[in-house]
Amino acid sequence: MRTASGTTLIHHGQMIDGTGRAPIADAALLIQDGRIAYAGPSAELPQLGPDVEKIDARGGTIMPGLVEAHFHATYFNIAALEDLDIKYPVEYVALLSSVNTRLALECGYTAARSGGCLFNVDVWLKKAIEEDLIPGPRLAASGREICSAGGLMDWNPEFRKIGMEGLVFIINGQEDARKAVRALVKDGIEWVKTYPTGDAASPDINDHHTLCMTFDEMHAVVATAHNHKLKVTGHCRATQGIKNALRAGYDTIEHGTFMDDEALELLLERNTPVIPALYFEKASIELGPEFGLPQVVIDGHQETLDGGAESARRILRAGGRLGMGGDYGFGWNPHGDYARELTFFVKDVGLTPLEVITCATKTGAEIMGRGDEFGTLEKGKLADVLVVDGDVAAHISLLENRKKFVAVMQGGVIKAGQLAPPFPTMVKREK
Ligand SMILES: [Zn+2]
Repeated sequence: MRTASGTTLIHHGQMIDGTGRAPIADAALLIQDGRIAYAGPSAELPQLGPDVEKIDARGGTIMPGLVEAHFHATYFNIAALEDLDIKYPVEYVALLSSVNTRLALECGYTAARSGGCLFNVDVWLKKAIEEDLIPGPRLAASGREICSAGGLMDWNPEFRKIGMEGLVFIINGQEDARKAVRALVKDGIEWVKTYPTGDAASPDINDHHTLCMTFDEMHAVVATAHNHKLKVTGHCRATQGIKNALRAGYDTIEHGTFMDDEALELLLERNTPVIPALYFEKASIELGPEFGLPQVVIDGHQETLDGGAESARRILRAGGRLGMGGDYGFGWNPHGDYARELTFFVKDVGLTPLEVITCATKTGAEIMGRGDEFGTLEKGKLADVLVVDGDVAAHISLLENRKKFVAVMQGGVIKAGQLAPPFPTMVKREK
């Protein structure tokens, strides 16, 4: 991805630098050739040379670009889970995904870690974004997901003759687990997404207290993935599933819904980040009836919401790490609503706006393994920056309204927001 050339100064705004430090009221951010040269009080800004482009952020907030830590570019706002298998071919899924990455960037998300994808779309999306062909967050690519036979993702009965080729590897035992990971290694992905547990969405045979993989299968996934320098995550709701994942060496935990004391202890010992993705549950409860979700499913989502909120609070209060990602891509939780997760964590879970912003920036970059490149406004880092009209520390919900974005920058280049050129030209030069 190209970076800007020249010098840009963003000044007079409040700065939230993403480290968790208190906001600086009158701050300046100096960007030199796409990287941060200074971030701090305006009063201490070093002497500037000529030819400085200036952005006046008076009345606004200067902060790091957001990181969506559980992103599904290929989930196309589905109305039912089976849509993922049967509705569209890979060609159309890829096109829809490129629309979703553009939208995510316009929503202030300058980076994203995938939580699983259809076919092998992520890897190629990432390439197109990195080569500036399409706009989108800096992406950590995942691939087809892994689940044991009969588990949460194995929802099509045999008579339908659907092999789930696009979405998931259905495995039986350690040998299958290794085989699936090795296929993903060849696909060029970075994150292996697995399904250690069920979900409220499947109340009959794979509810949120059911295990969908054995410890041995999970361990085989981790050993094979780590050997090839891939990372592993998993959909973990049931308490035992969370513990299995931590003991097997998972790199992150998705959801981490029902944590008991032992699970929390295991988590803290390993400093493993958790991505709760909780607003999804609230959206399922509120809009579920409209989408025909049965009452038993909605009740399950309520239990998940209550358990997940309690676990998230405990993790953060105990010094653990949370990433902000929202599992967007369902009809009731569509792409574009990403920042609702942040408002939800302030209003419903009880975190402070500063805590939530740190989770959504610094921790997100750490989850991607790129904490030294972006995620905070600090000297030397890439200028992935969000300039928002208004006081985000006081009104976190401003982040839900992209009309309030003055600039969304990647490497100092303005890609979206009021100051962005209307139709950025992206031309590929064949080498
Ligand atoms: Zn997900």
